Amino acid sequence: RAKQMGRNTYQWFSEQLNTEASYRVKLRNELQDAIDNERLTLYYQPLIDSRTGKARAVEALVRWNHPERGLVSPGDFLPLAEETGQIIALGQWVLEQACRDMLRLHKAGFKDCTVAVNVSPMQVRKAGFIGAVSDALEASGLPPEALELEIVESAVLYDADQVIRTLHDLRDLGVGIAIDDFGTGFSSLSYIKLLPANKIKIDRSFIRDVIQDRSDAAITQGVISMAHHLSLDVVAEGVETDAQAAFLRRNQCDLLQGFLFARPMPLNLLEEYMHTRGGYASSAADDQDSPD
Ligand code: C2E
Ligand code: MG
Ligand code: MG
Ligand code: MG
Repeated sequence: RAKQMGRNTYQWFSEQLNTEASYRVKLRNELQDAIDNERLTLYYQPLIDSRTGKARAVEALVRWNHPERGLVSPGDFLPLAEETGQIIALGQWVLEQACRDMLRLHKAGFKDCTVAVNVSPMQVRKAGFIGAVSDALEASGLPPEALELEIVESAVLYDADQVIRTLHDLRDLGVGIAIDDFGTGFSSLSYIKLLPANKIKIDRSFIRDVIQDRSDAAITQGVISMAHHLSLDVVAEGVETDAQAAFLRRNQCDLLQGFLFARPMPLNLLEEYMHTRGGYASSAADDQDSPD
């Protein structure tokens, strides 16, 4: 049902995008209004430690609470925000809100939890990004070690030297760097050794058929092995079945993220989740795990 809603929303937006310029202006203005008037909201999806079954981190995922369309997914408005440059203000809001929310979670007793924030390539390349990150940390009082930034490989396609320098400076602050959607970009593997990342997130397109497809299984095993040899943590995205989780545990994938464990949820539900089922124990998955 959610999928269907997403598609309708997408259609609605793309129709507007493809028709007259006046509609684009309308949409742009609506988005600006959303940024200015806090009609954006953050959902959080837990990342599960594959050994303990407990949530060790959460990823912040932005939503637009649209007066007529309801909750709109980032795929439906981030492309426009990138085009118009609004991604900078939007991204800054996300960063500040995520730090504030995570401090609240720390105060509720979950001090070891980190928050991952997606940042667009444009944001990272923008002068002053390091200052923006440290401002968000200072304003909230969140320790830098509790913040991780997720960047896609393509962020280094342009101005690679500058981006890599920026990421080094962020690591020096204590902030973590995760490479998002790993394997889907066209960047060379040599960037892996240049990027000061501490984590790799295997894109969910490899996880989807990891049980049935030998190539996906081999690629996933290979990426986990490579990451560990580079002393990086590995996350599998889009884990939806017990069989996938069992495969990933068997292959020492460090963190699991996906609808099997939890869907993205608002902060109040996340707090409840952390209190009640901060850990996930699937006996089925554990059973499948043991034969190896
Ligand atoms: P991502 O960073 O790869 O985030 C994971 C996406 O996969 C999320 O979609 C999440 O809801 C979805 N997902 C998680 N588990 C499963 C699963 O088991 N199955 C399936 N089918 N999907 C799953 P969402 O929230 O729609 O976000 C889409 C993308 O939008 C994100 O992909 C990220 O690239 C971008 N994004 C989201 N929030 C922000 C933000 O604040 N700033 C920026 N720059 N980008 C963002
Ligand atoms: Mg991400
Ligand atoms: Mg991802
Ligand atoms: Mg992805």
